Amino acid sequence: MVKVLAILYDGHQAAQEEPRLLGTTENKLGMYDWLTSLGHEYVVTSDKEGPDSKFQKEIVDAEILITTPFHPGYLTKEVFEKAKNLKLCVTAGVGSDHIDLNAAVEKHVQVLEVTGSNVVSVAEHVVMSILLLVRNFVPAHEMIERGDWAVSEVARNAFDLEDKVVGTIGAGRIGYRVLQRLVPFDCKELLYYDYAPLPEAAAKAVNARKVDDLKEFVAQCDVVTVNCPLHEGTRGLVNADLLKHFKKGAWLVNTARGAICDKDAVAAALKSGQLSGYSGDVWNVQPAPKDHVWRTMKNPLGGGNGMVPHYSGTTLDAQKRYATGAKEIIDNYLHDKPQNPANIIVGKTGYETKAYGQR
Ligand code: NAD
Repeated sequence: MVKVLAILYDGHQAAQEEPRLLGTTENKLGMYDWLTSLGHEYVVTSDKEGPDSKFQKEIVDAEILITTPFHPGYLTKEVFEKAKNLKLCVTAGVGSDHIDLNAAVEKHVQVLEVTGSNVVSVAEHVVMSILLLVRNFVPAHEMIERGDWAVSEVARNAFDLEDKVVGTIGAGRIGYRVLQRLVPFDCKELLYYDYAPLPEAAAKAVNARKVDDLKEFVAQCDVVTVNCPLHEGTRGLVNADLLKHFKKGAWLVNTARGAICDKDAVAAALKSGQLSGYSGDVWNVQPAPKDHVWRTMKNPLGGGNGMVPHYSGTTLDAQKRYATGAKEIIDNYLHDKPQNPANIIVGKTGYETKAYGQR
């Protein structure tokens, strides 16, 4: 018998009414009947903060841990010390930065993601976020709800995406899909910054140019979108110093991880007008505290904020894919079948991906 622990968020009434909300404590990634019918123990909780949380109590003898980036159970080095029986961490989704991956390597714990499961979901959200910032959509909609009608107030900060330079930090599965989706908008140029060059044919298909220096990259972009994982090399990458090199009034979209962008530096850049807008769904701490500056920060014209809770990669379509994928990973583990190599972040002998830094 294997003990499986899952840290998921509570879906409350929504999860009872909508069974396709699979990533909730109520619907348990659709795995409860399957795991328990095989005789395994399956503990599901949302209680994840602090040493007295159910997460930290149950992890001591769990063999498999399932987490999601949407309600991350932070598996720190200290928690690894307690997790004496842990063999496999499954991220139901993409992005395993909530796990201390170096500690996983040290403790010989495998870490797998459901690679690709929500990359289209996020890429669509990125394109939407770029458009809503560039076109100044949120203030225009808020004006309508207020009962007002002052076209110039919103048009004074609304532009077309056509003829703008858009660049992605990270041109992996999501970053590349963003570039693909931007092609019909006739941008002036599409740029990317990544230590892994795109295959020639892929770069040609979207007509994207690689820029090797990050400061030179941001200095050329009207819109920057962040699509790389969070690791030692990207934490705080977009900080006060880098923001000075952005074009004045650029737009920044980050659906990768909140901590890649410095919280206070972004808020200050928006306030000063160095950035015209910031949009994304990821926060340095999740759930974000009520007084998090990113909830209410604005540009000098009172707009430029497109923040939402972490949901771009958790559409109902995505939930189906990552629940199915997580089940496959566990099934492979339980029956000693090979894993899909693309899903392996940390394998039996160490890192198996280059995406979490050039190791
Ligand atoms: P991927 O592994 O396919 O691509 C990541 C790319 O980033 C790779 O090409 C890698 O070389 C590049 N990269 C790594 N470090 C870099 C650095 N320092 N500078 C520039 N590029 C760097 O991953 P993906 O599927 O495209 O996902 C990317 C990230 O998006 C995930 O790690 C996750 O954090 C985030 N994500 C967010 C959501 C959401 O719901 N908001 C959902 C899925 C993924």
